[in-house]
This record gives sequence, structure tokens and C-alpha cells, in this order.
Amino acid sequence: MVAQGLYARNLSMKKQNLHHKANLLGELAGFDVTGFPLAIFPKKHIARSSLIYPAAGEKGECINLFKVLQTNFCENNCFYCVNRKDRDCPRVEFAPQELASLFLEYYKKRWVKGLFLSSAISVSPNASQEKMLETLRILRQRYNYRGYIHCKILPGVDTGLIEATGRLADRLSMNLEAPNQKCLSELSAEKDFHRELLDGLKKIASFQGKHSLKGGVTTQLVVGAANEGDKEILSLSHNLYRGHNLRRVYYSAFTPVEDTPLENLRPCPPLREFRLYQADFLLRKYNFTPEELIFDEKGDLYLDKDPKLVWALSNIDRFPVEINKALFEELIRVPGIGRISARKILDIRKNTKLKELEQLKKLGTVVKRARKFITLNGKFYPAKKELEPEIDKQLFLWEEI
Ligand code: SF4
Repeated sequence: MVAQGLYARNLSMKKQNLHHKANLLGELAGFDVTGFPLAIFPKKHIARSSLIYPAAGEKGECINLFKVLQTNFCENNCFYCVNRKDRDCPRVEFAPQELASLFLEYYKKRWVKGLFLSSAISVSPNASQEKMLETLRILRQRYNYRGYIHCKILPGVDTGLIEATGRLADRLSMNLEAPNQKCLSELSAEKDFHRELLDGLKKIASFQGKHSLKGGVTTQLVVGAANEGDKEILSLSHNLYRGHNLRRVYYSAFTPVEDTPLENLRPCPPLREFRLYQADFLLRKYNFTPEELIFDEKGDLYLDKDPKLVWALSNIDRFPVEINKALFEELIRVPGIGRISARKILDIRKNTKLKELEQLKKLGTVVKRARKFITLNGKFYPAKKELEPEIDKQLFLWEEI
């Protein structure tokens, strides 16, 4: 009886420990972003656990991922980080088997559709990456799990480990954190931008070139903590998209964390992060170059209007464009016309002339935004009033089709 009681107590303590660990490492993993900008974070999302994170799918849909750190023990002391070595906080670590089993429990209950695994740097980058790799091996090889896995690659890990992880994951990522060494020095005394981070990301991108990861390669930058300008951020993103075939660059608005050297720094406004995502979309999907985007004298995007509207207002001599004659490339530069609606306009033009604003509306054009920049069958429709600053899920932000 006594032995049974002891066994039951041990089991319950083990469960409590596991939950404590899971809650903590799930919450801490929230600092890695994978989709929705803060300004439009899904309001309806109520997670049943801190491990469930609403990631943005390719078409803007919400996909719940099991997002967790393998450990929050860290050898480094990045100035902004909740897990930095000198910060007084509880430290825990998952054993690979433990983490794999917990994830599968969530997956089988259909609470999540995939895993996003990251880690702080415990002992060494290689040692921590090995632990994550072991978790992936257990899932793929022991349990035959075939679903989605996004795995972080830690700065400084050996090429062999990158490749072994890449063979088991759908997406790999490494956080650059800043657009250059000068800005990175404001965030970390230990990390080296070129040798460790950029070269590491290039190695991952080159693995992707040979093995074609389904989810591609991504990175993340902290925004608003290192005096970095939006122009330098977007120039870097553009180089990564063009030169290294990166799938996405994510922007994470800086939020000060208590008991860190940057605790008194002002948080970055979510609107800045949102404008960066909009400008990033123009680079990736609308063939804009960073040189075409309009920045203020400090090299930042304007906050009060979306970057495509700012560009159009600064290039007013290119407008109005005639909807019935414009090329696809001209149509998608009109504020309020996205790629899907431009394609629909071209399709319908094969058979008929567009004559009414109402027709354009039905094709997905945001007419109140576009009217100032177009003529329709030769007729100009001046805007009724100046456009208000706004935040919405603008069509072109998530229109990935
Ligand atoms: S290495 Fe990563 S986890 Fe560790 S302090 Fe730096 S940012 Fe935080």
C-alpha cells in the first residue's frame, strides 16, 4: 500500500513537473514569431495552453502549432532576452522523449497541426541542437510522425548538424536579430553577425537549394531595439529573398523584458512592425525594390499610410491608369488593387469593357482606395475624401495565391 501510494505521488509530481515545464517553455517560445503581426494578431484565438500558437499559413489562414523551447538554460547574455544567462528566472529542460510524447498527445487530440521547436543555448550550440535533433528523430523514426516540423538552427552549429536536422524538418530558420553587426552589437555582446549568423543562414539556404525543404528557410529580426532603420532592414530582406531564396523574413516588435539591460527601452509600436510586413510583401510579391520604397529622413517607413499608397502618392505622374488598358504590372501598383483582382480584371477584359466602379468592387478592388489612381473607360472618379490612416488585413498583405 505504502509503495503504491508513493508510486502514485511520484507519478503526480512527475506530471506536475511536466506541466510546469511545458507552460514555461511554451510561454518563452512566444518570442519567436511565425506569422501574424502584433497589430492584427487573431483576436479570436484563445489557446488552451501556452504551447499552442496561432501561426499564419501561406494564405493568411490560422494554423495552430505546438511551439516550444527544448530548454531555456542559456550560456549567452543577449541584452533583450528573457532567457539570458544572468537573468534570475526558473530554468528547465525537456528530455527529447518527454517532449516528443507531449507533442504527440496534442497532435493526436487535433489541438495542433505541427511542431515549432526552438531552444536557448545550453552548454554549447551543438549540444542544444543535438537535443532538438534527437526530439525530431524520435518523432520521425520511432513514432513515424509525418506532419509539419519547423526547427530552429542555433548560431554556430556544425554543418553536419544543420543537414541532419534539415533531413527531418519541413522548415529551418535561424534568427539574424539585426540587419548588420553595428545594430547586433546593441543587442548582444557575444553574437557575430557575419561569421556566425549570416554565414549560418547562408549554409541553411544552400542546404535548402540541394534538398528542397517544403516549408523553406526563414529568419527573424528584432525591430526597434537597436536604432536600426526600416530601410536597412528591408534592404537586407530583399538581398535574402533574391540572393538566398529565403521564404520569409519575420519582424518581431521589441518589447522590453524586466531584469534585462534593455528593460527601460521604449517598446516598438506594433504599427511599425505591421508596415514592415506590408513593405516586405511589396518586395516579395509586387517586384518593388527597396530603392523604390519611400522612407522618411531617418530611413523609416511612414506609419500613417501603407507603403504602397505612399509610393503611389510620390509617383502621382504615373497615374491615373486606365483599367481597360493597363498591364498587369501597372494594375498591381494601384493602391487597392492586389494581384488576384488584377488577374480578374485582365480575365474579364478579354470579353468586355469595365465601365462601373461596382464591377471593380466585385472583382475584389478596394475602390475607395483605388479611385484616385484610375480611370474607368476614360472616366476619372476623384476620391471623396483623403484616405484615413488605417489598419486592416489589407488584401495585399496576405494575398499569396
Ligand atoms: S542566445 Fe538566444 S536564448 Fe540565449 S540569450 Fe541570446 S537570444 Fe536569448
